[in-house]
Amino acid sequence: MAAPRIAVLGLHHEGNRWAPVVFRQDMRITRGDALIDDSRAPHPRVTGGTVGFVREMDATGPWTPMPIVLADAGAAGPLDHALLGEIKEEMRRGLEAAMPLDGVYFAQHGAGISTGSHDPDGEMYALARRIVGPKVPIVTILDLHAMVSDEMVDSVDYVAAYITNPHVDQMARGAECARAMRALLGGLKTAKAFIRLPIQAPQVTQLTAPGTGPYSEVIAYGQTQLDATVLNVSILGGFTYGDTPYQGMAFIVTTRDDPARAKALCRELAQRAWDARQRFVPHLTQLDDCVAGAVARGDDPALPAVVIADVADNPGGGGRGNTTWLLRALYAAEAKGVILGHMFDAPLAAEAHALGVGARFEAHFNRAETDERSQPFRVPAEVVGLSDGVFVGQEGGSRAGMTVDLGPTAVLRVGTVTVVVITKRQQTIDPGYFENVGVSVTDARTVVVKSRGHFRAGFSKYFRPDQIIEADVPGLTSPNLGNFEFRNVVRPLYPLDRDATWTPPAW
Ligand SMILES: [Zn+2]
Repeated sequence: MAAPRIAVLGLHHEGNRWAPVVFRQDMRITRGDALIDDSRAPHPRVTGGTVGFVREMDATGPWTPMPIVLADAGAAGPLDHALLGEIKEEMRRGLEAAMPLDGVYFAQHGAGISTGSHDPDGEMYALARRIVGPKVPIVTILDLHAMVSDEMVDSVDYVAAYITNPHVDQMARGAECARAMRALLGGLKTAKAFIRLPIQAPQVTQLTAPGTGPYSEVIAYGQTQLDATVLNVSILGGFTYGDTPYQGMAFIVTTRDDPARAKALCRELAQRAWDARQRFVPHLTQLDDCVAGAVARGDDPALPAVVIADVADNPGGGGRGNTTWLLRALYAAEAKGVILGHMFDAPLAAEAHALGVGARFEAHFNRAETDERSQPFRVPAEVVGLSDGVFVGQEGGSRAGMTVDLGPTAVLRVGTVTVVVITKRQQTIDPGYFENVGVSVTDARTVVVKSRGHFRAGFSKYFRPDQIIEADVPGLTSPNLGNFEFRNVVRPLYPLDRDATWTPPAW
């Protein structure tokens, strides 16, 4: 075949039902040649799944990229439904204009929601299928926090979900999708099996490093089953806070045209996870205990340093990244050697930049925030550092080699606590998020991160797993599922319903 014409497009959105609605100005939209050019740049800004696919396609032969649009909202509230319609319309027009196509690649996340739809991802895949017809391969990458609908699985030929959490294999899975695309172009036929279990595992129980729990075990087992017939095993923990009918742990097995093998393995994997369901329960540390530990470490250098993960306010799950429960308590307790990041507060960062290094002022956190969990906090502060917030992600982290842009950033000394304030809401991914503004991680006794778990990859060079605790404070991403009023999930759903039952499909 002459250089195949491959459409590249996607929606990257993890929708938290309780977070503020996303409008166009809240999205990063990359369209046309910029999508391909950025993927080929030394330190890209687009998603790792896009970069991995483009680079592997480049490396494996000629192709004609037909870039359309990548709409990236990250983890945030539901998309405004009109905005979703505009994105889908841009995708429709782009796909139709790019015809005849030989293949379609979705650089997708898979946990999208809008104010009027529970399944934007499935709608996009089905739209593409209608346009290109049944024979043109459609390949998609998915975040392992995707909420998987039947329409998503039925509309595509090949699915590759991340197998790591923290997500350090985004580029590798994108590359896998490129190789699958080449095979499909060469005549490969796939058969898939799909099961969605009624387990909504709180996000902190979905780690994949060895020894971190049942999710890591079933993912590792799935990877041992890959062979000449089993091409991909994707096990998606799902996104706890989407509140859609597609909540649940999803198992997708893709084989080389062997439906029986796909079904048998899919059922076995689901059964393994179901049998382990009682272990999908988080172990959180109460605020008082977090603070007492920080005070003790500040006073006794012999104690090992600790990371406190503010898992309930994870911008990577739609959290606002600005709740003040830990900041207020650690400040009041005068815990020594505390660094805390990353507080999303654009007005405060701008004020600190205007005042300059050395200025002392009354910091007013959350002056412009409306979410009730992000309470205002006024406290005397000193500006001790400023930066533009742009740097390259550290090796080992889930943004390794990629451009990180926190926007104008300020380091404030608030009593005994050093706080990093940023302009663009995002989670703390690796130690560079502190070190690039002159805040030492290795000198700190307690490091507070606004992150559910992605920090674990980058911070593992300084902290063992037993030096990490997860705080139980309020927030939009609290692992305490009882804190949320779910309206759209299919009940019963474990562990919301401890008596939930499941029967394997008869097939
Ligand atoms: Zn994820």
